[in-house]
Amino acid sequence: MAIRNIVKEGDPVLRGKCREVTEITSRIITLLDDMRETLHAADGCGLAAPQVGIKRRIAVVEVDEGDLIELINPVIIAKDGHQRELEGCLSLPGKWGYTERPMTVTVKACDRNGQEFTVTGSGLKARALCHEIDHLDGVLFTDVAVKMVDPSDIEG
Ligand code: ZN
Repeated sequence: MAIRNIVKEGDPVLRGKCREVTEITSRIITLLDDMRETLHAADGCGLAAPQVGIKRRIAVVEVDEGDLIELINPVIIAKDGHQRELEGCLSLPGKWGYTERPMTVTVKACDRNGQEFTVTGSGLKARALCHEIDHLDGVLFTDVAVKMVDPSDIEG
């Protein structure tokens, strides 16, 4: 495994739609392993493939420590409720803003064995799932934020 470089806002790889994964090759498995290691090194709760420079529909989410979810071709199939919470992004260091997200989402995806599964998350998990799936369509949280926040206001 290897820690990959996390690309920052302004890099065109973060914009535009990512391609679906049609075949889970050894390169895809290596990418998933590297994304896990990169996410842990960055101490984040989610990472999408375009954030490591790969325009494929792949993301990892880990809200509960040790419970990393690998998502290949994820699609939101149900959402319920609303939440407005503070959000940030490993590709936009120092930026924070409030987003409106569903309180609960259910996502359908494939795992690394090509098996389809669904995962339901509420609260932070729902936000992380929405945030990472947005990345796969070139959407950053600053595009959907209802209010940006000065970081000094949070720390103070
Ligand atoms: Zn992000």
